[in-house]
Amino acid sequence: MKFFFPDSHDYVDPSFNFETEKNNEHRVIQRDDKYAHELFSKPVYDGILVSKAIVDGVKGVQGRYSVAQRQRFFREGIYRFFRLPKHYLTMGDCGAFSYAKEYEPIYTVDEVNEFYSNSGFTYGISLDHIIFDFETPKKKVTGKQLEECLRRQEITLEKAEEFLIKNKDMSFAPYGVAHGWSPESYADSVIKLQKIGYDRIALGGMIPLKSSEILNVLKCINNIRNTKTQFHLLGVNRLEHIAEFSNYGVTSFDSTSPLMRGLKDDKKNYHTATEDYTAIGVPQVDANNNMRKLVASGSINQNEAFKLEKACLESLIGFEKGVVAKKEVLSALTEYEKLYNSKASRVDLMDKVLTDQPWKKCPCDVCKDIGIHVILKRAAARNRRRGFHNLYVAYEKLQSELNKMNQVK
Ligand SMILES: [Zn+2]
Repeated sequence: MKFFFPDSHDYVDPSFNFETEKNNEHRVIQRDDKYAHELFSKPVYDGILVSKAIVDGVKGVQGRYSVAQRQRFFREGIYRFFRLPKHYLTMGDCGAFSYAKEYEPIYTVDEVNEFYSNSGFTYGISLDHIIFDFETPKKKVTGKQLEECLRRQEITLEKAEEFLIKNKDMSFAPYGVAHGWSPESYADSVIKLQKIGYDRIALGGMIPLKSSEILNVLKCINNIRNTKTQFHLLGVNRLEHIAEFSNYGVTSFDSTSPLMRGLKDDKKNYHTATEDYTAIGVPQVDANNNMRKLVASGSINQNEAFKLEKACLESLIGFEKGVVAKKEVLSALTEYEKLYNSKASRVDLMDKVLTDQPWKKCPCDVCKDIGIHVILKRAAARNRRRGFHNLYVAYEKLQSELNKMNQVK
């Protein structure tokens, strides 16, 4: 079971100074920064997935890449651009979510083929169009809704056929995409894709589905799956079901979830093998949007806020060094919290994480390198590293699940 990490320009400045909170002034973005596969001494994924929409942008809107980065991506190819050792896998997709609202996909099959081929991908996923509906016992898909589902499924299958025909001389291995609105309609797609000639099939549109719904789809398509057909789950990360997924022919999946939860989840943003913790908020008075609004509206006094922010950071660093007591840290944190979040205090959650100090027990390179800073919710240098730490934890969990499966066999 291989795990692909969908890249979206996720890298960190390795020379960031956590005391002065400054980047190295000579740093060149991306070139001097480090990706997760460069930051850790152990792999945290088996490969990366890169979307055409992220690199190229969508309909006049620039993607995440600058013009220069985009040109370099095509000139150097995916492996050199990401400084990715050759033993990693790479998967390209179209980024169908970014044009899901359009009537038809915004790329041609030729453009997609060229994108994968020129950049040197291991695998390329055929051009697809997302189906949003999913049938439940209470909600049948009928009428106009059903027509639209069928239309999008048909487009995806037509593009898959064209993609495979034109793929004959390409250097990457092709995946067809199955979309559906019920287990049976997913099965229809899989049957047709196998007929076209695919033995690698990506299952799309499953991100919003419940795990039980995903398993129902997999059970259904497992009945009609050719023995050598392999499935890739697009955007699905449900590690607790890895063994079942594997029994149904899933050989890979991709997900940004561990990273995104480190960055955006409100409560469970620092993961460990056994427990999820809440990161400690120390918002930057001059850079956090919420803080800036509060200052601009006159709700809080900027000088006082600066003073409390500084007191929090100093006490946290002192706590890490063993010279400040937990009680003092919590009192500084709650004092500051009253200013930016007067409604619901998180003192209990902060107490919990300061008591357990999970970062001290984590063997990952991020926690070893930056210590308590990994648990501070405060700008990208820390938040993205926390996301990387979560990626490490998720990959370790996956490996341990895979080991368990091997022992059973
Ligand atoms: Zn860690």
